[in-house]
Amino acid sequence: MALRCKYCGAPFEREVVDSVAPYITCSSCGTTQQRMDAKAYLEEMMVQVKSWISSAIPSGFNISAAENVDPIARNSIFVRDIRPRVNMELTNYKFGNISLLGNSLMALPFTRSSSYVPAHTPAEAFEFNARIKSVEPLAVDEDGRALLTEADSLTRSYALMINNMNLLAEDKDGRYVLMAKNFREAASALGNGRDNEAIILRFNALADICDGCQYLLEGKPGDAGSRLRRGNKALTDVRSKAAADPQLGIMMSAVDQEISLSDILMNVAGMMETASGTDGLETLNVIKKVMDSPLAQNKGWTHLLNNRNRYGEIFSNISSILTARAGKGTLPVSSGSGEYLMPFWEVDLKYSFTTGALWSKKSVEVKEDLLICADFVTDSVCLSNPASAITDIFRIRPESSILAGIKGRETSISRGQGIGRIQDSVAEDSPGGRKVIIPLSTKREAENLVSEYLRQRTATDNKLRLSRPEVQRVIYIPVNMSNGLHLPSDFGDLIPDRLKRVNKNTILYI
Ligand SMILES: [Zn+2]
Repeated sequence: MALRCKYCGAPFEREVVDSVAPYITCSSCGTTQQRMDAKAYLEEMMVQVKSWISSAIPSGFNISAAENVDPIARNSIFVRDIRPRVNMELTNYKFGNISLLGNSLMALPFTRSSSYVPAHTPAEAFEFNARIKSVEPLAVDEDGRALLTEADSLTRSYALMINNMNLLAEDKDGRYVLMAKNFREAASALGNGRDNEAIILRFNALADICDGCQYLLEGKPGDAGSRLRRGNKALTDVRSKAAADPQLGIMMSAVDQEISLSDILMNVAGMMETASGTDGLETLNVIKKVMDSPLAQNKGWTHLLNNRNRYGEIFSNISSILTARAGKGTLPVSSGSGEYLMPFWEVDLKYSFTTGALWSKKSVEVKEDLLICADFVTDSVCLSNPASAITDIFRIRPESSILAGIKGRETSISRGQGIGRIQDSVAEDSPGGRKVIIPLSTKREAENLVSEYLRQRTATDNKLRLSRPEVQRVIYIPVNMSNGLHLPSDFGDLIPDRLKRVNKNTILYI
């Protein structure tokens, strides 16, 4: 057995083992250690492996001389004593591995992702791998060898991926180089087994994306772009393979997140290449701030806001902004002028109410337009009182006037018409020189907010029959912020309270 890293258990390469340098650096986890410590770790590990073997096989059997023992005797030891133990432990590692693969295995530069804690340490997986190797002489038949090969490749690739998970959680220098190497090594450990085709493809794609990140950090957007495009394209293939295979379904949303991340990175590379004066690292920093920006706390919202998948959607919105900023796409922008484009969720609300009296009683169908501030998730007031994030069309509805003076001619009891004009003016447009504020909420969160709003607003009104509100999309409204916030006059008196609390210095824009 070769020298091993005392931090992660990975075997060192031959050159490192053969060198005489007193300090050696692990190319899997990136930790530097004294050669003598690595030696001490290896010895300790060999003791572990030996004690595992002697606990498994009959006493008196010398495994180091196994080659000289009759194959039938060896096989019976393997089948009776080794195989059940390997199978049992392997099942445990398989669960750990598949659960790990359900997570995004990529993070943007400068960001740390530590939401997932692997079920095993890399050292555990590498040690199990060493045990597998040590019993190879006992596996004489094809089944036995197949089991050990499977156990070997699975635990090796799993151990390397645990190291990558740990690298995602710390933003250390050169982590993309280490991760790229681990991805490629894990892919080759899985061999060319057809069973693992999609996983191998995913690892190689992620290795390319790591290379792309490294190039971005080195200020080489051209090289970054080509690697990122290759990785991104391969990930879309992985996605369709995963969609067709129920066993890989667990990878789907993780791969979606990885695709969104690589979309962002491609856009950043494209911006650095085409738009002169664009600082890609600066842009990545803004994105990092999005990840770091604290969300409001509210018990009823934790299931939505703690959901890791929410960032996939937010990244895809950021990606559209970056594409538009690079002049390669457009955004839905309403008419008007302003130095900032502020994001709002566009909501269609249909409802009916009963009007008229006695014989002229009838039901009136109405469609109203609502807007929701797209950053409401950062404001705890909005979460407990959704009306403050919304153009609150029912707020100014004088309760008495609905009933009084009803002549059966009403087409609306709310007053959202000005908002309708804003929505009608939305057209696909280039942001030009305008700063685009990043939408921080997801569609599902917007749906939740508007449902809660309607529940609170209409709880006491049995004349209203609401249909489910439809959250359409994010639209961008030009606003000025030089002397306080200036919104288009069509907002009228429907300006959400949230906007009065917006702080120009903390808004995140690209
Ligand atoms: Zn290591």
